[in-house]
Amino acid sequence: AYVVTENCIKCKFQDCVEVCPVDCFYEGENFLVINPDECIDCGVCEPECPAEAIFPDSDPKTADWTETNRKFASIW
Ligand code: SF4
Repeated sequence: AYVVTENCIKCKFQDCVEVCPVDCFYEGENFLVINPDECIDCGVCEPECPAEAIFPDSDPKTADWTETNRKFASIW
């Protein structure tokens, strides 16, 4: 799955949300999150993110962010 990381904080763009074929983006506190259990790993959102905040969860840069994404996505 792909997850959103800290560069997204206060980002006002929603380009990623528009391209996601399965609508798995959700609102976090002041950033967007991806529900990693709904993400189908298509990778379409990654190059669309102007803040370079989206990474595959296999990337070490995502660290604790996978759980943060899951937590906020499950609120909805
Ligand atoms: Fe949506 Fe594809 Fe991005 Fe996953 S990788 S969040 S399915 S656009």
